Formats: sequence, C-alpha cells, structure tokens
Amino acid sequence: MLDSSLAQEIAAIDGAELDSDVTFAELTTLKIGGKPRGAVRCQTTEALVSVVKLLDDASVPLLIVGGGSNLVVADGDVDIVAVIVEADEVSLNFADATLTAEAGAVWDDVVSLSVEAGLGGIECLSGIPGSAGATPVQNVGAYGTEVSDVLTRVQLLDRSTGEVSWVEASALELSYRYSNLKFTNRAVVLAIELQLLADGLSAPLRFGELGRRLAISEAEEQPRRPVRLVRDTVLELRRAKGMVVEHTDHDTCSAGSFFTNPIVDPATADAVFATVGEPTMPRFPAGDGKEKLSAAWLIERAGFKKGHPGSDSKVSLSTKHTLALTNRGEARSADLLALAQEIRDGVHKAFGVTLVPEPVWIGLSIDD
Ligand SMILES: Cc1cc2nc3c(=O)[nH]c(=O)nc-3n(C[C@H](O)[C@H](O)[C@H](O)COP(=O)(O)OP(=O)(O)OC[C@H]3O[C@@H](n4cnc5c(N)ncnc54)[C@H](O)[C@@H]3O)c2cc1C
Repeated sequence: MLDSSLAQEIAAIDGAELDSDVTFAELTTLKIGGKPRGAVRCQTTEALVSVVKLLDDASVPLLIVGGGSNLVVADGDVDIVAVIVEADEVSLNFADATLTAEAGAVWDDVVSLSVEAGLGGIECLSGIPGSAGATPVQNVGAYGTEVSDVLTRVQLLDRSTGEVSWVEASALELSYRYSNLKFTNRAVVLAIELQLLADGLSAPLRFGELGRRLAISEAEEQPRRPVRLVRDTVLELRRAKGMVVEHTDHDTCSAGSFFTNPIVDPATADAVFATVGEPTMPRFPAGDGKEKLSAAWLIERAGFKKGHPGSDSKVSLSTKHTLALTNRGEARSADLLALAQEIRDGVHKAFGVTLVPEPVWIGLSIDD
C-alpha cells in the first residue's frame, strides 16, 4: 500500500488518479501479474512528471507502464508503484511531415493516423501493440524498419535531475531492440517526434516475407509502395502469426517475441549450421563481424513445435509462431517462467546458444 500522505499528495495532482484495485494481470497483454503497491493513472504529461518526481523524491520504486505489452510480472504482491501513462495527444505538421505524439498515445493509432494522412515511414511498424512512448525504449522494429529510422527527438524526464528536455534520438544509442533507456529506468519518455515521408509512399522495403507478398523483385532498387497497401499487408501477415492483439485469441495473449534473435560470432553460426545442415538456415550480418540468427528457427530446430507443450497446458508456445509464449487463460507467472526456462535450456543444449528474453521482467527473472 502507498503511504497515506503520499497517496494524498498524488490525489492532489491535477490529471493523476489513484487506482487501488488494478493488478498487473489487467495491465499486461500476457495477463499475468499480481497487485502493485499502488497504481497511478496519469492523464496529462504534467501529471506524469509530477507523479514520477514525487515518488522518486520519496525513494518509492516505480514502473512506467504503457500498454503492458513487453512486461513479464510476478504474481502476488509486487513492491512497485505502476505509473500508467495515458496522455495521448498526437499532432501532425504537414508542412515538414513531422509527427509528435505524447507517450501514452496508442502506437498503432499513431501509425494509422500517419497512413491516413498519406505520410510514410512507419507503416511497417503497423500492429505493434503498446504506447508511442515505449517505442524508443527497445527501438521497436518489424519487417526491416525500426523506429530509429524516423525518430528525430524524444522529450525526456531525466529521473536523476528532474529536468524535462527534448533530446536528439542519437543520445539514446538505439540499436537492435535496445536503447540506453531499456532496463535502466534512467528517464521517462514524455513525447516522441518523428520525421515522416510526404509523398504517400512507404519507406524503402526490404526483400523478404513482406517484399514477396508485395511482389517486389530482388532487382528493384529502393522499392517503395503506397503506405496504405503496406500497412494492410503488414497487418495481414502479423494477424496470421498472432502478432496483433485480439482479445478472443489466446495466441495473442503474449509479450510478442519472447526472445531476441541471438547475435553470435561466425564460428557459433557455423557450428549451428553443421549441426542442422540446412542450406536455408537464416543468418544475417549483424555488424562488427557478428551474425544474427533467428530465435524462432533455433527453437523449432531444437525440437519445440508450435503449441508446445500441448493444448491442455496453462502456457504454451503460440500455435501460430514459436517465438511467442502465450497464456492460455489461467497461467501464473511460475508457469510462464518454467516454459521460458525449458525453451532457453533446450536451445542451449541443442546449439550452445543462449537465448535472451526480450521483455522487461518485474519481480522474477529467467535465472530464478
Ligand atoms: C502481440 C505482440 C506483438 C509484438 N510485436 C512486436 C514487434 O513486432 N516489434 C517489437 O519491437 N516489439 C513487439 N512487441 C513488444 C511490445 O509491443 C513493444 O516493446 C512495445 O513498444 C511495448 O510498449 P508498451 O507501451 O506496451 O510498453 P510496456 O510493456 O508498458 O513497458 C515496457 C518497458 O518500457 C518501459 N516504458 C514504457 N513506456 C515508457 C515511457 N513512456 N518512458 C520510459 N519507459 C517506458 C516500461 O517501464 C518497461 O520497462 C510485441 C508485443 C506483443 C504482445
């Protein structure tokens, strides 16, 4: 429980609302997790800043929560205050094709708005759940696009100084599923600014699953397509994999891709290749002489099939995609942890590659 004087101070902040009943199961797409020490809904950016400063000054541990789509939270009492970001204003500037969104805007609404306005650049990121403010945190990406491709600036609350300022995206050290905000909690993203493309076409598309669906030939240089066509195609591909949250479909009751694609040295990639012997093994240059392997492919080749361990389990791999661990309705965090460990250990035993979880874990760890 929150200390009553602190609760009173929070209640006095305009745009902040205490929610004493909510559980992390209700705040996350995995629908797992116990009761936070307190929860505060922040309907304005000013309220968000005031609440975070108040809790930080009182040394009360807090977790910023957007859409809860990249969180694995323990059951029971969780000794943390959930600060829920709800300020969601979005503005488009057609003169220079920039878009600014407050952190609590639903990311896919931002993409949809951009596409409706004929602005390109983020259409490949259609259907990713969660909030706009979380997109820089792990540099969200899909189908060859990452938010770092279009992110120009972020408005941050620096939690060590209490200062609010706009900083260049380069200050976040964005790379594959990483920024220096992830796991550090050093700052709160209050708003993001994107530079979009004004000619109604998508960003250049890569040849791959999406490119094939759009009939792009390998010979085509810098292929671009109408933004709406790309968004519709991405949504169709994602739905087939259970990667768009649909409340009636347990396959989407997940944290998305549960493990990041491992980045390994070429000798490790060669050893995996020698073990499996498939000429089509996915391996891609990852810079610094390293290679990126496909976590989903490794999981399957280690013997885990879609739906593992079976339809009567409380948690299982999605029946549409091996990279998503899913709650079949009544799972507890211990069930999820056991499956995550089984998959990680199985892949390690088969290939000597250690998969690393992508979501942020609160109150438990895959090493427990
Ligand atoms: C079905 C499904 C599909 C997915 N597909 C993809 C995909 O294709 N690509 C991809 O990259 N990800 C994907 N994800 C993961 C997830 O959607 C993204 O990471 C998303 O950006 C998380 O946003 P959120 O608001 O839900 O963050 P939350 O889960 O609420 O929070 C995640 C982390 O970010 C921090 N955080 C959130 N908001 C802020 C803020 N304003 N300031 C500072 N820190 C903050 C939290 O404290 C926490 O540490 C998928 C998830 C699901 C469930």
